[in-house]
Amino acid sequence: MRHQPEASHFINGAFVEDSEGEVIECIYPATGEVIARLHSATPTIIEQAISAAVEGQKVWARMTGTERGRVLRRAADIIRERNQALSELESYDTGKPLQETLVADATSGADALEYFGGLAAAINGEHIDLGGDFVYTRREPLGVCVGIGAWNYPTQIACWKGAPALACGNSIVFKPSETTPLCALEVAKILCEAGLPAGVYNVVQGYGNVGAALSTHANVDKVSLTGSVPTGQKVMAAAAAGIRHVTMELGGKSPLIVFEDANMDDAIGGAMLGNFYSSGQVCSNGTRVFVQRARMDEFLDKLIARTEAIKIGDPQDEATQMGPLVSSAQRDKVMDYIAVGNEEGAHMITGGKRLSLQGMENGFFVEPTVFSGVADNMRIAREEIFGPVMSVLTFDEEDEVVGRANDTEFGLSAGVFTSDLTRAHRVIAALQAGSCWINTYNLAPVEAPFGGYKRSGVGRENSRAAIEYYSQIKSVYVATGPVDSPY
Ligand code: NAD
Repeated sequence: MRHQPEASHFINGAFVEDSEGEVIECIYPATGEVIARLHSATPTIIEQAISAAVEGQKVWARMTGTERGRVLRRAADIIRERNQALSELESYDTGKPLQETLVADATSGADALEYFGGLAAAINGEHIDLGGDFVYTRREPLGVCVGIGAWNYPTQIACWKGAPALACGNSIVFKPSETTPLCALEVAKILCEAGLPAGVYNVVQGYGNVGAALSTHANVDKVSLTGSVPTGQKVMAAAAAGIRHVTMELGGKSPLIVFEDANMDDAIGGAMLGNFYSSGQVCSNGTRVFVQRARMDEFLDKLIARTEAIKIGDPQDEATQMGPLVSSAQRDKVMDYIAVGNEEGAHMITGGKRLSLQGMENGFFVEPTVFSGVADNMRIAREEIFGPVMSVLTFDEEDEVVGRANDTEFGLSAGVFTSDLTRAHRVIAALQAGSCWINTYNLAPVEAPFGGYKRSGVGRENSRAAIEYYSQIKSVYVATGPVDSPY
């Protein structure tokens, strides 16, 4: 098998196998072909990984921030040098087209390593003067962090969790999604090549039960999950038993509001990026597109034309703009939601069909699909579909649309398209979401905090904010005079 890694797990600086573990088949979503066969971690592998992380962390935390940062930045350089190969692997792992993976995956991972590598030497405590006595703080690592990934951005997630964790002096055991197990192994290998001490970044494969075992392990200090809300509830509850730190990057059903004064071409471009990029498998997608009544016809006409022009096909062809869904299960889930939308009475104005492409007849392709006439209470407007299905809703007034946009349990993202600057900021301030955009959608540079409100998450990734979630503050009171004791 052409993408078979050396072994399933990467522990203590080396590939490790335990063929007793349940088999994980890695399937290329464009063809349905098995491209690698791995094993889920056994209890022995889990123990080995956690022990390696405990020991590795001690070595890593003794190094200076500058030394740590140098390793991360070297890894970023190696990732950039190998962008082509890493992007191809990402495309095989996920089915996302090379046109996307060349610019959005390994490169985004490299950005995170470079950013946190640059920050590592500046992670400091402070000195607090008390007029004689003083307090100083030490910003210390948490210890061993567990990262658990979703399948949509396997390289990016491995780096977005790894980079801030390592910059702060933690070690990590990362469990990729069982659907996309390959890319994180490359990240681990590259970090090692860049000089990371053994045991500091480990990868173990596995299904949910392995994630659960890691989240409840006595030697784990923090769990960072990217996944769905139901998994987040389980992982957070498990972490609560040990009062462990958590970061939860969960799902969404985000609103994208298009006012009548918006540049329509930009708004349509934003809505398409926010629904069809990565075949719609992006957590922050703006899947409820509210369009002000006066421009609805124009919005839909142009949207249909541009949607029907999307080039769907072989992910390894750089001209392809949309690939398959990640798995047959995800394809079936999306097709079920399309059926639900039709049953609920929404108007399917384009797409809606499974595609059988020549030479890729067993791929998990679904046409980009748009529903108009969607009502707030329909399931397609309330539940996360995680596929190329856009729901378009009509609105009249600003207050009305803000209320409707906020009427959801989720709060990951939100977007506004308008040429009225004052309104843009007023509406964004009123929306309950953690990652927002004005006159664009879904850009997530490492410099900006990323994370959700409400059930969409806890904590933030990226930016200086992430340092807060991978470190803890020790406060040290220093007396400079005699102890004033009444006893
Ligand atoms: P998922 O929740 O099914 O799985 C996520 C990960 O959790 C997988 O690695 C899985 O093996 C593991 N897992 C499952 N049960 C577990 C348990 N009991 N304990 C510990 N780990 C367990 O999610 P998915 O289907 O892989 O990914 C899609 C979801 O991820 C969507 O809801 C999407 O919105 C969300 N997502 C969020 C972000 C974000 O940054 N907010 C980014 C990408 C994806």
